[in-house]
Amino acid sequence: MGSLKSATVTSLMTAGGHEQVVYVADRDAGLRGVIAIHSTALGPSLGGVRFWHYANEHDALLDALRLSEAMTLKAAVAGLHQGGGKTVVMWDDPDRPRDTALLHVLGRAIDSLGGRYLAAEDVGATTADMDGLADVTPWATGVDVARGGSGDPSPVTAAGVVHAMHAVGAALDGEPSLRGRRVVIQGAGHVGSHLARRLLAEGAEVSVSDALESRATALARELPVTVIPADRAVFAPCDILAPCALGGVFDDETIPRLACRAIVGAANNQLGAVGADQQLARRGILYAPDFVVNAGGIINIAEEFVGYDRDRALASVARIEDTTARVLATAAEHDVTPLEAAERLARERIASEGSGRWEPGSPAAWTNGEPLRRLRPAAPSRA
Ligand code: NAD
Repeated sequence: MGSLKSATVTSLMTAGGHEQVVYVADRDAGLRGVIAIHSTALGPSLGGVRFWHYANEHDALLDALRLSEAMTLKAAVAGLHQGGGKTVVMWDDPDRPRDTALLHVLGRAIDSLGGRYLAAEDVGATTADMDGLADVTPWATGVDVARGGSGDPSPVTAAGVVHAMHAVGAALDGEPSLRGRRVVIQGAGHVGSHLARRLLAEGAEVSVSDALESRATALARELPVTVIPADRAVFAPCDILAPCALGGVFDDETIPRLACRAIVGAANNQLGAVGADQQLARRGILYAPDFVVNAGGIINIAEEFVGYDRDRALASVARIEDTTARVLATAAEHDVTPLEAAERLARERIASEGSGRWEPGSPAAWTNGEPLRRLRPAAPSRA
């Protein structure tokens, strides 16, 4: 294949193993977007709807292909019965709200896939967007709690990060407890602030940083945490660095200057360069793969399929500790990085449990053999 820039859509799809790509456009609604289904081998594909500014359509396609494949691996290693998909919408300013007409056109396109792709929130998307999609299709998750959705996933995601930290503590020195461990959190947003609370409750020493320093200082007024300036947080000496801001944190420039023993955080796509996992391993820094650590978000959504309950979601997310431990043990056994081990485990699960492609109307793992026609159990009828 030639360069990514000139590659045709189908050559990119075959290279990545993608099942389907759907282009969506509507002149009146101002919609231009791409829905990518990477895999339905383990069940219907699920992934966020991203509203983002792209320089051109090809960049949007590449993002959809890359992100949908990542969702396949994330769901597979998390033990979920679903595959990976993604929608990207070319949108000049992610903060500019979407109107109902656009959401309905997009929702109808998602509906036409009959459940092969389940929409979720992603960068730039809001619960209001999910509600707009859900007006016209049952295949939207993350809708408002009042509509049977799972609401804000960040407390559950933060809980999952702590479970992963226990496994990492055990791998570092045989001690899963976080008591007395020094943790630096990059990003005091939704996940970061919940994470700080949970870590303090477990006796860790916590520092926070945020590009918007007022967010970090506001948290420090509420909790016994110290604040580190945003440009220094990644390099602060600590046991565990928890990236909970944006992706692309670890590259040739940052890795040589790190002073942590392990990296365990919620941010997506933390590795900013090919081979960054190898560089971290060479420096003796234990990197817990982001898509293993932050799976709490989609484990939370999966609870919608059986009738959402926050306590059950928090119980389900506890399995991230075992998953992380298995990834680290596999890495040690095969002398590969944890990232390679996680990808290997995901692909092995798809190969052993995957059943080709999921078709509309087929049952999904959570329907007890019934044809899947909607995502959430019908609300109990009122007497
Ligand atoms: P958020 O927007 O609420 O918080 C991110 C915070 O990071 C913001 O306060 C922002 O100001 C700060 N930030 C940005 N760049 C920074 C930098 N260079 N240094 C320090 N701080 C910086 O987002 P969130 O919902 O807390 O999610 C955090 C990360 O976790 C994202 O990468 C997200 O994709 C990922 N994630 C979140 C969830 C979830 O449940 N919310 C689930 C899975 C993955």
